[in-house]
Amino acid sequence: MRIAILADIHANLAAFTAVLRDCEQRGGVDEYWLLGDLVNYGPDPEKCVEIVRRLKHCAIAGNHDLAAIGKLSTRFFNPDAVAAMEWTMQQLSPRNIDFLAGLEQISWRGDFMLVHGSPRDPVGEYLISRGQAEENFRVFKNKYCFVAHSHEPLMFRLDEEGHASFVNFTESIGQVLGDWRLIINPGSVGQPRDGDPRASYVMLDSETSMIKLYRVAYDIGATQLKMVRANLPMRLVARLEKGL
Ligand code: ZN
Repeated sequence: MRIAILADIHANLAAFTAVLRDCEQRGGVDEYWLLGDLVNYGPDPEKCVEIVRRLKHCAIAGNHDLAAIGKLSTRFFNPDAVAAMEWTMQQLSPRNIDFLAGLEQISWRGDFMLVHGSPRDPVGEYLISRGQAEENFRVFKNKYCFVAHSHEPLMFRLDEEGHASFVNFTESIGQVLGDWRLIINPGSVGQPRDGDPRASYVMLDSETSMIKLYRVAYDIGATQLKMVRANLPMRLVARLEKGL
């Protein structure tokens, strides 16, 4: 079975459709795992949720999805995120609000746990350091865990002594899922923050036990133009081309 793992789409339709096209060009996938934050920041929340609903998928909620349906306060959001959220809430149809409201915060698929933030804090924690990874390896039982939220592709491995280390996670280089327990972040489709503005996602082939990180160029200008027309904050518009 081939599975595409997509996170932090953030209402960026051009990035999302470019990734879906890339998946098709690589032979298609049997299922999409979506790690939350379908909406906010970008100009197409309604269309992105519509597409997700039509895909064969397993989706979990991110902090922005929960805020969009009033289940999470925007108190800790920065002013740009709050402004974008107010606009986003006006765009979503009742049907898609219901869809977001039905998302769980954790899901399990075979050897994999899926969360937006981290195993110990499914929507809040940015899991970016080795120390955090070590602590989080202790709180989930599955062999592997996919996380998102930081918008940076990352992979951690746990060794026999209980120490976590970064695994080199290079674009298009296959990584075999072996004996090591792993925490894997596929990066962000719609708002990458690792300095590379291309959309980021991971493909998992369960037969060969191989995962690969892919980066996909998309029409950033098209998304930016829609954001300007929707009067979304300029800082959010500008960051897309920098990937920061
Ligand atoms: Zn996000």
